[in-house]
Amino acid sequence: MTDKLILDGARVAESIKDELKAKIEALSAQGIIPCLATILIGEDPASETYVRMKGNACKRLGITSRRIHLDKATSTEELIAVISQLNEDPLVHGILLQHPVPHQIDERAAFEAISIHKDVDGVTALGFAQNAFGYADYPSCTPAAIMAILDYYRIPIEGKHAVIIGRSPILGKPVSLMLLNRNATVTICHSKTLNLADMVGLADIIVAAVGKPKFIQGNWLRSGAVVLDAGYNAGNVGDVDYEACLLKASAITPVPAGVGPVTIAMLLKHTVAAAEKLALH
Ligand code: NAP
Repeated sequence: MTDKLILDGARVAESIKDELKAKIEALSAQGIIPCLATILIGEDPASETYVRMKGNACKRLGITSRRIHLDKATSTEELIAVISQLNEDPLVHGILLQHPVPHQIDERAAFEAISIHKDVDGVTALGFAQNAFGYADYPSCTPAAIMAILDYYRIPIEGKHAVIIGRSPILGKPVSLMLLNRNATVTICHSKTLNLADMVGLADIIVAAVGKPKFIQGNWLRSGAVVLDAGYNAGNVGDVDYEACLLKASAITPVPAGVGPVTIAMLLKHTVAAAEKLALH
């Protein structure tokens, strides 16, 4: 790579959605409309925006989006009862529980209540374990998006040193495992990591999944590193200081229009795949 490569998430997302169109038509011919149920609890504006974006993306592609909006005082038991109904509903193929959920809810228990067959967001422990073994049907969407961007742009993974900053169960950990399964050498960093800048400086591939705006500094990077910014902070700002990192990186995702749109495309892809599986039975 000679020039800087801006990893265009909108373009990657379009290519994924283009492939889905024929699949959705084929399902429709069998009388099956893929359906994603989204569960939103409370009135968090950011969560409402995310759910609306996901619903709109479904609509544009001909996927049904069933929106369930629960009161902010909903208990864990009430939420699990709703999830159980959706598990049983043959018209629903995927379930997305928008998180974070209000503090009174046991988020892990709620995630675990989602049937593995409908866990299109890869949030269950079983889905996580399948991803670790390398055979998940529906790995977590943002990690899957990061891998899709690397593959779309044919960026080599095998033998490369990938440094992941963040170890959350939906992002940092699963993307680390995916990169490991593709034969990268993986270092996972977190809030207790010492000498973070030195760690980042050793990376061929950097995944920023910290949740802190402009956290990764340009002068931490080795020249020619590939930077994937999963961060999405207030004001459309990523976890990477984009302008400074652009000077050192060989390839970098912008925010917005980087990892975000591909994450949504992955959710749609998983929902269609879940509908296809049902069609086979
Ligand atoms: P999270 O659960 O808050 O995890 C953040 C991780 O960053 C934790 O592992 C934490 O370490 C680590 N961290 C915090 N401060 C650090 C520091 N000073 N040095 C090194 N590591 C530090 O966040 P998340 O859900 O993984 O999300 C991360 C980012 O991705 C956020 O900006 C979020 O908005 C974004 N996101 C984007 C999408 C998308 O579609 N683009 C989807 C999901 C999330 P500890 O484990 O030690 O606390």
